[in-house]
Amino acid sequence: MPDVLHPTRRLLLLDLRTSKRAPEPELPGLVVVNPNPRFGDQESADTALAVLVAIDGEPALAEWRQRFLPMCPNGCPHIVLLDPWSQTLALRIVQGGAVDCCAMDDLERIELALTRLEHHPRAATADPVAPSALAHWLSLQAALDTLPIPIFIKDRNRRYTASNRAFADYLGLAAGEIVGKTVFDVAPDDLAAIYDRSDVDHLARGGTQSYESQVRHADGSLHDVVFHKAIFLDPAGEPDGIVGAILDISERKALERRLELLAATDFLTGVYNLRTFYELARHEVSRLVRNGGELALVVIDIDHFKGINDSLGHAAGDNALKQFVAVVRENLREQDIFARAGGDEFRLLLPDTSPAGAHLVAERIRSEVNKIIVRSQRGRCRLSVSIGIAQCLPGEDSIDIASGLADDALYEAKAAGRNCIYPLPESR
Ligand code: GH3
Ligand code: MG
Repeated sequence: MPDVLHPTRRLLLLDLRTSKRAPEPELPGLVVVNPNPRFGDQESADTALAVLVAIDGEPALAEWRQRFLPMCPNGCPHIVLLDPWSQTLALRIVQGGAVDCCAMDDLERIELALTRLEHHPRAATADPVAPSALAHWLSLQAALDTLPIPIFIKDRNRRYTASNRAFADYLGLAAGEIVGKTVFDVAPDDLAAIYDRSDVDHLARGGTQSYESQVRHADGSLHDVVFHKAIFLDPAGEPDGIVGAILDISERKALERRLELLAATDFLTGVYNLRTFYELARHEVSRLVRNGGELALVVIDIDHFKGINDSLGHAAGDNALKQFVAVVRENLREQDIFARAGGDEFRLLLPDTSPAGAHLVAERIRSEVNKIIVRSQRGRCRLSVSIGIAQCLPGEDSIDIASGLADDALYEAKAAGRNCIYPLPESR
């Protein structure tokens, strides 16, 4: 039915309530606008008599003041509708920039406020051709909310002035609970102090910044991220605040870690490959040169391994290698370096280990390997290994000399009948 009393009146209702006690007021010309619209949904505030803002408490109040009010500084007047009524909030709302504040269900008071506006219309400050600041802001907010990347804006005092839905989800808060807060209100104290110090430095330095970090989401999951931050300036050219985006790179990082592991280890057994062994050995040798001490090299080769493949099959041979690796691992310390040199030959580098200590480890491995039984449908057999040991000396700049000696010792062990360790303890 045409509105005979108010033929041209347009009112926008921005409903920021989370719990709706009172129904929306039945006012002629009222259009409800979505506070989180999609593109194209926005209602222009240019021709509206007023924006009515429904508020039910502090979070909605903060959202209105920080997110919506600044978008219409000289534009459409705001009348706040409180649901429920609160004298204290009403006072702050009127002081905070609303032209009036009424109880949501007090239709007479609302109409009175509107009549007042109709008789004292606002000055036409906005360019009538340009889209209204409110509509512009709403479309920007909608664009930010569509992105799955957490985005935030802080003022020069490092208080959040805006954020998108992904940022609220990341913190586990509602959008209205972020604006007006500092990082100390949303992050654990120790982390907040680090983030805040970095913001202070950034504001002083200006420009853009990006760095990798790890963050814990509200649901407890840990994510690898890149922070991209930039300082924006006020019209006088002074740093006015920070805008930041948090890009999740967990998948890329996990893939990188997986590729690094694959490149560093042997595919079948999971121990280091020879390239990694030499890399780690270089570090150990330079540590030995720096600090002195002892470093033992142990070379282990499975006896008659070709025979196992031939009699039980290649799969059983693979299995034997895995069982052997498991037994050796049980006899090593955290700092010991274990690698497959190729085929059935393995190498150990034992930091801070004397010749007697290395012999003890080797003997434990030799006797434990003897307990391994390799099975296949074709039969079963036991495993044995031959072992050669040598010491790296502090004067040597690589493990090459020790490697040669350990290889010679292994050759002697094979020649002596296998399943033994050379040099023999008495000949060291
Ligand atoms: P020795 O006691 O003198 O060490 O005799 P051996 O038979 O163990 O020595 P040899 O070097 O002749 O044989 C090693 C065999 O290991 C040859 C090769 O077929 C086998 N081999 C190498 N890599 C693999 C692997 O990944 N899986 C299996 N199943 N066999 C492998
Ligand atoms: Mg062998």
